[in-house]
Amino acid sequence: VAGIAYGCYEMYVQRHPHVQNEMDPEKKTIVILGSGWASTSFLKDIDTDDYNVVVVSPRNYFLFTPLLPETTVGTIDIRSVIEPTRFIARHKSRTVNVIEAECTQIDPEKKLITIADNSDVKGNHATSTLSYDYLVVGIGAMSATFGVKGVEEYGCFLKEVWDAQKIRTKLMDCIETAAFPNQTPEEIDRLLHMVVVGGGPTGIEYAAELHDFLVDDLTAWYPELAGKVKITLIEALPNVLPAFSKKLIDYTESTFKEQNISIHTQTMVREVRERDIEVKRPDGTVDNIPYGLLVWATGNTARPLIRDLMQKFPETQLVRRGLAVDEWLRLDGSQDIYALGDATATRYAPTAQVAAQQGKYLARLFKQLANRDALELELEDASDEEKVKKERKLRKIKDIRPFQYSHQGSLCYIGSDKAVADLPFGPGGNLASGGVATFAFWRSAYISSLFSTRNRALVITDWLKKTALGRDISR
Ligand code: FAD
Ligand code: NAD
Repeated sequence: VAGIAYGCYEMYVQRHPHVQNEMDPEKKTIVILGSGWASTSFLKDIDTDDYNVVVVSPRNYFLFTPLLPETTVGTIDIRSVIEPTRFIARHKSRTVNVIEAECTQIDPEKKLITIADNSDVKGNHATSTLSYDYLVVGIGAMSATFGVKGVEEYGCFLKEVWDAQKIRTKLMDCIETAAFPNQTPEEIDRLLHMVVVGGGPTGIEYAAELHDFLVDDLTAWYPELAGKVKITLIEALPNVLPAFSKKLIDYTESTFKEQNISIHTQTMVREVRERDIEVKRPDGTVDNIPYGLLVWATGNTARPLIRDLMQKFPETQLVRRGLAVDEWLRLDGSQDIYALGDATATRYAPTAQVAAQQGKYLARLFKQLANRDALELELEDASDEEKVKKERKLRKIKDIRPFQYSHQGSLCYIGSDKAVADLPFGPGGNLASGGVATFAFWRSAYISSLFSTRNRALVITDWLKKTALGRDISR
């Protein structure tokens, strides 16, 4: 009942936003870079009574990445897994200034950032500057290519909304072109060969979704082609899902075999060309594999802005993978820059779980900083008697605990309504499970972690729609 009541309240506020207070020149300003998992979790929890808050991001929304693979084949609609940043900030006491722009420069000495308008519509790329008291860097990472030639030009990444849209278009293009009259059998085979590079969770989940689309929908609508569609997954290591337990790796590999998805392990892609890829096999032989669609999911690398920022701290920023931060998420070498999520190089994996927990933690830390500043001001005018009490309180506040990650487990969809889960409880502190029941758990876990009632309602509706009507096969 409480859930439904809160949902109704959320819907009301969405249509009738609160009147919010304007920015306060007396308060310190936090500039947040990015609107992904890390920055959005921070934004949700930061108290705008204490600070002015400005968000700068080239996209004006939060994307729920765990369900992105489902959007590539139309299991769910892209709009169901995004949430405008302004909606997320609508409960705040003070207006959050959301600027759709890319941060192109950070000047830590002047505490100033340069931003560039990334709008295509206006056709201009105006730039401006913003000053900050605190900067929170949550700009994530970008897809790694490891310098393999042709990936950017011919491959599709799977990280952002536009990547999913590109994959969808390319996939349907391959299928429709293969259905065009008088194609040669070799060309049909090439067009219908879907290759996924990278056997981490992104590559596995994409291959799984593609398989389901093929079996549930394409077989019915393109019966003459369905038997010819091939899915191949290429992984450089000896097995897929290296972060999962052995039992689940074996389960995933055997499920893929049943689904006719070929896995080529210990195989490195050396070059991507327009119509084929060159791979090196474990025995050292080199092969050319023709493909129609190539999805490249080989992990992350640091964004140029992150590399540029590292160069400004040559003595403390020595890790290439991302920004080095202390246990309180403060950038090593800086007093007022904080960094979190995939933009950082920490001992944690680059996951949404880590990014979200860091965002929450940092909002708490900023609350403590605000309380500390307020107490320090009060101390100046306090009587001797009050001083003792306040100093004790201040010591407590100053003792800010470092960030501690609490792992909630890893989940991965593997196709045919099956998922695998490595959970940190049960006998021996680990429960590894796979199958249809795990898929039900996977769905409920993601539904409950969506950020709004609106998204939850849309995703559930999409799942029901898919079950009742099938997926949309239009391009
Ligand atoms: P992001 O979420 O990538 O956000 C970065 C933000 O910064 C974006 O808003 C971007 O537009 C913005 N930005 C970029 N450049 C600039 C700039 N120059 N200036 C300002 N802003 C900028 N993790 C899990 O734990 N569970 C899962 O099930 C899971 N599934 C995934 C599925 C897919 C397909 C992918 C790609 C990832 C998945 N992950 C999952 C990983 C997870 O999405 C990332 O770890 C998480 O997004 C990291 O959060 P972040 O905020 O650091 O970066
Ligand atoms: P990843 O780094 O986890 O996996 C990339 C894989 O690509 C690795 O196994 C690597 O060996 C392989 N690879 C690298 N170069 C290659 C090459 N040239 N040829 C063939 N294979 C190559 O990347 P990801 O799957 O994109 O995941 C990124 C992060 O997001 C991870 O932390 C992951 O846990 C998280 N994520 C989680 C989920 C989930 O929990 N369901 C889903 C997607 C992503």
